[in-house]
Amino acid sequence: MVLLSTQSSGQFCSEKSLVIDAFNLVPGFRCTRTCDHCSNDSSPLRTEALSENEVLTIIDQLNKYQPAQIVLTGGEVTIYLDIVERVLKNLKFQFKVTLTTNGSFAGDLSRIEKVLSRITNLELVQLSFDKFHGSSIDSKTPQLLKSYCNAKGIRFLLSVCVSEAKDLEFAADAKDKYGCDVIFQKIEASGRAKQTGVQFKYRIFENKVLDQKCPNSGTISFTPGKGFSNCCSNLIFNHKLAGVAGGTIDELVESRFFKESTGLTFGARLKELGLSEAALEPMHSAPCTLCEFIELKKIPTKGFKPCG
Ligand code: SF4
Ligand code: SF4
Repeated sequence: MVLLSTQSSGQFCSEKSLVIDAFNLVPGFRCTRTCDHCSNDSSPLRTEALSENEVLTIIDQLNKYQPAQIVLTGGEVTIYLDIVERVLKNLKFQFKVTLTTNGSFAGDLSRIEKVLSRITNLELVQLSFDKFHGSSIDSKTPQLLKSYCNAKGIRFLLSVCVSEAKDLEFAADAKDKYGCDVIFQKIEASGRAKQTGVQFKYRIFENKVLDQKCPNSGTISFTPGKGFSNCCSNLIFNHKLAGVAGGTIDELVESRFFKESTGLTFGARLKELGLSEAALEPMHSAPCTLCEFIELKKIPTKGFKPCG
């Protein structure tokens, strides 16, 4: 096992093993929707899913690193229940599962039972629900999912992506209407969101980002065709960059990219390039856009090799 730590200090520790708080599993990119703000370009036309080799590698690495939380995200995860079941049933440690879903499967309570009962240790259901999803999701869906989750002791919340400040009103209305918790996330310029230009717009450069590190430092993701990475955003979905993902978690954590993106602040990474705040624009207030700006100056855009 690799001897280091990604605890919030971001310092490497010679006596501790890598601690992974959460593991994001992306079983595939097929989805029932084609949302403008999708960070990974999922749609009904996408066919890429985890290969057999990738499934075996994920099972092996999860049993080695034993993250407490496994987050299922996509694509629409419920299209991939066979893969999800296969991974979860082969894990030999204690874990809890979060499902992110667009709710397209949740037409009635018996269908919800049929789908969600196949997900081992399900603790939290996050329904993507915002102006991009909300206008096309049946208004009964949040209520049905909430009822099912309440009866089974599963937490349920609405996840709202924010493109502009007024989207918060949508979230407040949804909270009142459905009586459940709501979480917010500013849309990064990743995947289809970058193509459609619906990322959150900053009016000025907010320099507090310079004191931050990759917001995903305690999380590892596996992206089909790319591998393990702390990145689940701009660098993974806007480019094919060598060194941003590894074929194993061990390989990832040995990389320059992992050490710098989880261990150094954006300000320190910028300084290493001999640059200052003067080189930045308002859009670089978004951590992933700033990270992309920095890494594209370092990583050759040739030499990408898909894993698995
Ligand atoms: S944002 Fe979610 S629901 Fe929309 S296309 Fe992407 S994965 Fe599907
Ligand atoms: S783009 Fe950079 S900051 Fe954003 S998730 Fe990826 S590694 Fe982290």
